[in-house]
Amino acid sequence: MRNPIIAGNWKMHKTIAEAKAFISEIQGEIKGTDVEVVLCAPFTLLRDMKLASEGTNIKLGAQNMHFEEKGAYTGEVSVLHLKEIGIDYVIIGHSERRQYFGETDESVNRKLLKAIGHGIRPILCVGETLEEREAGSTKDKVKLQVEKAFVGVPGESAADVVVAYEPIWAIGTGRSATSSDANEVIEYIRSIVEDLYSSEVSEKVRIQYGGSVNPDNVEQIMNEADIDGALVGGASLEPSSFLELVNF
Ligand code: PGA
Repeated sequence: MRNPIIAGNWKMHKTIAEAKAFISEIQGEIKGTDVEVVLCAPFTLLRDMKLASEGTNIKLGAQNMHFEEKGAYTGEVSVLHLKEIGIDYVIIGHSERRQYFGETDESVNRKLLKAIGHGIRPILCVGETLEEREAGSTKDKVKLQVEKAFVGVPGESAADVVVAYEPIWAIGTGRSATSSDANEVIEYIRSIVEDLYSSEVSEKVRIQYGGSVNPDNVEQIMNEADIDGALVGGASLEPSSFLELVNF
């Protein structure tokens, strides 16, 4: 009953021309798919990508936004900017933003509320460091991140949030979590959502795995009962490999 969602996180890669070529290469191949296909690109690409993807089933996402709608925040982009050009999703709280750009659980929460308030669906990233995993505190870490992110999110909007479980040690390292380990944490995240809301909401909320997903491991990951999709960095950059992910 949960529609799978495969999202490419291009990070700080690609030009407008490359993005347009990517779209024209994949659009015909994903026409009939039941999988929701999302490309999360740098801000300067999004408007051109929106025009290039009209009439296709490709959805677009930003990789961040500010929590205020407007104001003296030099260099920032707000939800209103994303809305104006018809963006569907926004990644919030990616570990790279938490690590390098001072993103906190509080700013993540404010961004999440702002995105939801304007009808843009957040892809909320959570996940533990290697030290936390080795110390056995994966679930505690993820629980805290999920609970803090959802503060103030009304029940009727909670199922619109996509959660991405991304163990930090698996991102860009080629070292993916095993599908059963990922499923165990994702099942746990679903139980946290159930505790916060209801089983109705937790059965609806889609939870992705992210961290070194590639064409070789995607099928096994997607076959796990609680994993509803993948957030993919490196393997989303080539059209052929991205198509293999979507057509898992
Ligand atoms: P990766 O990145 O697929 O390159 O590990 C995933 C992510 O950062 O979302």
